Amino acid sequence: MITVSLFTNMPALSGDMAEVLRLFLGNIELKVNEAGGEMTFTHTEAEQDGLRVVTVTDGACTHETKEAVTGDPVVDKRLRRRQAKLGVYQVLKSRTGVTPPWGSLTGIRPTRLLYANLDKGMDMDAACGELRRVFDVSEEKTAILRQIVSVQRELPLPTLQEADLYIGIPFCVTRCAYCSFLSGEVGKGELLSPYVDALCREIDAAQELLDQTGLRLRAFYMGGGTPTSLPPELLARVLDRAAPLLARCGEITVEAGRPDTIDGEKLAVLRRFGVTRISVNPQTMHDDTLERIGRRHTARQTEAAYRLARDMGFDHINMDLIAGLPGEDLERFNQTLRWIYGLAPESMTVHTLSIKRSSLLHLWQAQLPDGDMVADMVRAGADMARQMGMRPYYLYRQKYMAGNQENVGYALPRHECLYNIDMMEETASVIALGAGAASKRLFPQQGFIRRAFNVSDIRQYIDRVDEMIDRKRDLFLSSL
Ligand code: SF4
Repeated sequence: MITVSLFTNMPALSGDMAEVLRLFLGNIELKVNEAGGEMTFTHTEAEQDGLRVVTVTDGACTHETKEAVTGDPVVDKRLRRRQAKLGVYQVLKSRTGVTPPWGSLTGIRPTRLLYANLDKGMDMDAACGELRRVFDVSEEKTAILRQIVSVQRELPLPTLQEADLYIGIPFCVTRCAYCSFLSGEVGKGELLSPYVDALCREIDAAQELLDQTGLRLRAFYMGGGTPTSLPPELLARVLDRAAPLLARCGEITVEAGRPDTIDGEKLAVLRRFGVTRISVNPQTMHDDTLERIGRRHTARQTEAAYRLARDMGFDHINMDLIAGLPGEDLERFNQTLRWIYGLAPESMTVHTLSIKRSSLLHLWQAQLPDGDMVADMVRAGADMARQMGMRPYYLYRQKYMAGNQENVGYALPRHECLYNIDMMEETASVIALGAGAASKRLFPQQGFIRRAFNVSDIRQYIDRVDEMIDRKRDLFLSSL
């Protein structure tokens, strides 16, 4: 880990600048207005003749930008952050000779910037060109964004009367080493039944909320955790309680996720309640990698679960895989891609490994593929998706992604998951139930989103479920 001293007259922007430092330097310790770092940067912001002048230097390289001060606090805040980040970016780009694939972009939803340009009246060429000019996004990544936005524009947008429903099951059979979700291990299972009881109360309240607001459901998504880590009778209880809501819903996804949680009895439950899309997630076809990352299943189990789901009539199966896993190289990743090709799912999500815990990074350091190889893996994933007839339809980025890459969802035409798009583009309100679930209500006319969060601790959630219900009532029944 590198220690970096950042001297700035705008300490509030230090977090934004740190994001760019991490693009080039990986894990850093940042000292703000404090000497002693292995590298030192100075950032100054000043106003001159209606212009905001931002200068960043590391002593050897200096970058200066000038932007008009608009007087609109929201716009000026955005521009100040952008100038600070761009200054650090340009200095590091000159110093290292490295150009990150996403340029100076550090946000998680790059498509939204493309939409913002299109909303200003630019055509697609101009909107993409602007992304390249302002943020230095590579041609390759701009091309993906262009394809994704083109696919999304073919699909129905949610209306103001529609919302999505999310149910979170925050349990997994074991915890994957790289997991950043709020999931607990099933353990002896003593929390499962009380959790489902609480969830059923929230489902009933969601039904009332839909009646009171007149909202209709557009898409349903049960995620986690791993929903199929519930025993079949509890899975059935949740879906049975939600059935009146799901009856009006065109898209019903359940993340089966871990193949070691899938069996005929649970798949029969999902079929009985009309689930239209499931995920069976291999991550890799290599058992030694699976063991290394703490997933206690084998590739053979994945294939058996997949074939069982097919035999039982599921006609939309998604498979997730991860580029950049420890101990993997391009050839091993290609083997996984060829194996998935043979299975022929309707959609595939290619994730890039994101490691938030430095202890894990340290443990795996020698086994992690380098950034160029991860970029090749991501490219190979895109090529294979194309060979399978799939198109990219959503994309998001996370912090600490190997090689500064991204996660991309691919699907055969007419198999795109609307819920995924709604989440990434924030185009629909979401009623979200379960521990750690985040509901949101869109106010499109005001360009505003309000959120209500459920507590993430499972025991707290069970004890305080009525309070969670009230939070959602406040969110959806009060005026702006
Ligand atoms: S299956 Fe997903 S949610 Fe569960 S531990 Fe693994 S990464 Fe986390």
